[in-house]
Amino acid sequence: MDEILTTNRQSVRAHQEAASRELQPADAAAEVSWQQAMRLAVRDSAELCRRLKLPESLGNTAAAESFPVFVPLEFLSRMQAGDRSDPLLKQVLAASEEVSPVEGFVADPLAEASASTLPGLLHKYPGRALLVTTGACAIHCRYCFRRHFPYDEVPKGAAAWQPAVDRIAADDSIQEVLLSGGDPLTLVDPLLARLVASLDAIPHVRRIRVHTRLPIVIPQRITQSLIEIFRSARATTWFVVHCNHAAELDSATLASLGRLIDAGIPVLNQAVLLRGVNDSLEALERLSLRLVDHRIQPYYLHQLDRVAGAAHFEVSEATGLRLVEQLRGRIPGYAMPQYVREIPHQASKLPVVY
Ligand SMILES: *Cc1c(COP(=O)(O)O)cnc(C)c1O
Ligand code: SF4
Repeated sequence: MDEILTTNRQSVRAHQEAASRELQPADAAAEVSWQQAMRLAVRDSAELCRRLKLPESLGNTAAAESFPVFVPLEFLSRMQAGDRSDPLLKQVLAASEEVSPVEGFVADPLAEASASTLPGLLHKYPGRALLVTTGACAIHCRYCFRRHFPYDEVPKGAAAWQPAVDRIAADDSIQEVLLSGGDPLTLVDPLLARLVASLDAIPHVRRIRVHTRLPIVIPQRITQSLIEIFRSARATTWFVVHCNHAAELDSATLASLGRLIDAGIPVLNQAVLLRGVNDSLEALERLSLRLVDHRIQPYYLHQLDRVAGAAHFEVSEATGLRLVEQLRGRIPGYAMPQYVREIPHQASKLPVVY
């Protein structure tokens, strides 16, 4: 009986794997390892514009100096050549608006400096602690609230995490550890495996949550060996990916997310409401439906954090609320993200309300 069930499960998995392989585009990009993809990323506004057949003058040099451009070719390939208002390009092109200061937009909008109990550990919310595992990301998002984060002070490497791991071990109220950054999946597998194992060895840590944009921007990061790191852990793993627009979800990315879900790892998505990117009913509807079509649950739609350099991305809360109300009338309830904002020193993210 068992054997029959096992065989059935295996054949189901084999079928699913074959189906997800078929989703992989047979282009050269899929052959490149994720580390090579990081090395091949475009790091220059002018080159980005050239590749998209746009005037090089669109990019702003001063903005790129304060926060360098970094765009993997896999992400770039989903943009429309010649379209200067492409919603993916907007997220990554250093723009002149970034360099003019706007009142109310500051370096550390979430007062994270004061929430950090140890370098690299943020413990703001009951039951959950966030580990800043690295300062590196696989893409530089111009609206990022951590664009001025003091990553130089972040512990680097397995030995450097030990104080944070010890702190978590000493506090049995911490049931969940968020791996964040930067992007934790920029760590190589052996480092990540050591970190996960040391957290997994703490009995009161029941859940490990990975906050990452890597499966979206460089889908080949989701290898079988990466999946094994989490699948072999006692603690339950949740992934929260970050995607703002349906056009970010190409077939390779959806196949990678599908492999995680097939391995039993739930995947949620968070997005940021961004002017010129997803501030329309149509864009939000397409994003949510594409996510749930592929078993990914929309989790949060964040009001932009007011970080210096990102003012031109802000959508007013009144507009956001109107969009979210209209969205509710168009999609299934489980496809609705929670529209939230973060206010320093509050015990949770808070729903945006009238
Ligand atoms: C967002 C965040 C969390 C997780 O909050 P959830 O509402 O559980 O998703 C935990 N710690 C910090 C510091 C955060 O910023
Ligand atoms: S991937 Fe995340 S942390 Fe990195 S720049 Fe983008 S929003 Fe910021």
